[in-house]
Amino acid sequence: MIGFPSYGRVWTTVEGRTQNGELFEVAGEEVGIRIKGREYRFLISRFIPSDRRYIQEWSKVDRCHRCSKKLGNAPYKEAGSYKFHETCFRCLVCNNEFKGGEKLKRDEWGGMVHVDHFDKAKMCDSCSRIISVDSLTSQQILKDGRMNCLSCTSDGVYEVKRMEEVRKRVWPTLASLGMTVPVGDVIIRVVGKDVIEKQAKKIKARGNLRGLTLTTYKIRSDGRSIRTTFDHEIFILYGMPHIECASVLAHEYAHIWLNERFIDDFPPVVEGFCNLVSEATLVKEKGKLASIIRENMQQSDNPVYGAGYRRMKQRLTVLGWPALLAEMKRKSQPPTP
Ligand SMILES: [Zn+2]
Ligand SMILES: [Zn+2]
Ligand SMILES: [Zn+2]
Ligand SMILES: [Zn+2]
Repeated sequence: MIGFPSYGRVWTTVEGRTQNGELFEVAGEEVGIRIKGREYRFLISRFIPSDRRYIQEWSKVDRCHRCSKKLGNAPYKEAGSYKFHETCFRCLVCNNEFKGGEKLKRDEWGGMVHVDHFDKAKMCDSCSRIISVDSLTSQQILKDGRMNCLSCTSDGVYEVKRMEEVRKRVWPTLASLGMTVPVGDVIIRVVGKDVIEKQAKKIKARGNLRGLTLTTYKIRSDGRSIRTTFDHEIFILYGMPHIECASVLAHEYAHIWLNERFIDDFPPVVEGFCNLVSEATLVKEKGKLASIIRENMQQSDNPVYGAGYRRMKQRLTVLGWPALLAEMKRKSQPPTP
């Protein structure tokens, strides 16, 4: 390991792009790399063989989970599968060192706080990581009151242009399920929580909404034939990390697919179906964030989004995608002009 500067190295992707950054975490098939003070997560398979070897060597060494520096011969503390320098073994809320014997509470990423301080802990709005208060930057606090961890902030989708990349990432999955591209125009608006809540009130939608779709249609008849046209508006929260954004966008495109076919049913069926489509985009992702979002969906006690998802998941297991889409289509009730 000697010879590698601690401030970073040059990383090369298999497509030949290079970037200077410092490795700080290896977790399963993913690495965390700090680039200009921001934390990014990449699949290890994105890098050239020599980089992958570097990652392999790096992870052979015992490291502190908090600062990612080598433990060496220094005394360390252990919690679960993680090890920490004694001085790094601190509460993310009060920043005091754990002495041992205290009652601790942990997030799914290895972050820890005193049990009594958990209610004061700030959680990342996207990945449920406990946010370290002492290293909080203004970028992590979103205008609508949400707060994101460093990792999710770096990967956040804030504008329409990046949303277009997300859209391109989502559609191959939707097509593979048998869904077709909307016939109507789709406008995607990247907005704050306040805007989504205002729109939700109009259509009496409830829940912790991260996206919302409004569809309007017109029916034209020239006496012989009838033509229906659609316009769709997707409202989607800004600042969500790429993967979460993709899963929300997929959910909203599922609504559009239903709306263009005039398919309606009880909310648990409709939202459950859209969550299934959303999940399909997550299944392909190997990262931890994708599995956390999936798990939240599977465990959700929300009677519409959680129970609805589980109900539709059972249906999918029995039928498979082609028959499930066909079953949904049979619920279609186009308006009669
Ligand atoms: Zn440390
Ligand atoms: Zn504390
Ligand atoms: Zn996060
Ligand atoms: Zn929905």
